[in-house]
Amino acid sequence: MLKIEKLETYYGNIQALKGIDIEVLDGEIVTLIGANGAGKTTTLMSISGVVPPRSGKITLNGVNITGKAPDEIVPMGIIQVPEGRRIFPDLTVAENLDMGAFLRNDDAEIKRDIEYVFELFPILSQRRNQRGGTLSGGEQQMLAISRALMAKPRILLLDEPSLGLAPIIVQQIFDIIKKINVEQKTTVFLVEQNANLALKIANKGYVMETGRITMADTCENLLKNDEVQKAYLGM
Ligand code: ATP
Repeated sequence: MLKIEKLETYYGNIQALKGIDIEVLDGEIVTLIGANGAGKTTTLMSISGVVPPRSGKITLNGVNITGKAPDEIVPMGIIQVPEGRRIFPDLTVAENLDMGAFLRNDDAEIKRDIEYVFELFPILSQRRNQRGGTLSGGEQQMLAISRALMAKPRILLLDEPSLGLAPIIVQQIFDIIKKINVEQKTTVFLVEQNANLALKIANKGYVMETGRITMADTCENLLKNDEVQKAYLGM
């Protein structure tokens, strides 16, 4: 579905991505793990068009999307949940969800999708008239994922959904990510520092170090890999 080839992205003179190759197949959960500053967020920003790459190629189902602007990328079904959540704090939960569906006009299906996200996250249903900014961190992450689902993603790009959340909430959110993948057949590209959890729900993983992919394998193999265990799993 999503193919990244020899991608290079810069911030001025600083080269953040040094020729990376990643492939995400239809229906998979693929995770990109790595330390702080490795280039994980930049990879997502390059895909979603926020930081255009300098060279290399990104294709979605064979269509070249390299360098396209975010307003062209979003309607193609590539929907990003940014790090730090970025929900609309002054809008209610329901209004935030409406914003996620702003490109759609299939009202009956939008209604069904709202019911679906309320089933996934019942707490959001209870808080539907509450302003986003008054929610807890975990609830805001749930809302950010739900808002992205309202856009009917073909591929969901998640940037560190575990960031700053209590372990029990993180586990809940990861269970739901898996559920969305299984039930909705939504393809997921998950960027995470919490390698342990990410490798447990994903099919395939990539390890990134200072702008390069240093390992790519099934999660089963990565979890057994000595280097991964030492560097990312604290074993
Ligand atoms: P984190 O987990 O902290 O988000 P990351 O793996 O997502 O880390 P990136 O945020 O992609 O890493 O950063 C990759 C490199 O690019 C780092 O060296 C970082 O300092 C640099 N960088 C990121 N954003 C900018 C920017 N706006 N301007 C200049 N350099 C940047």
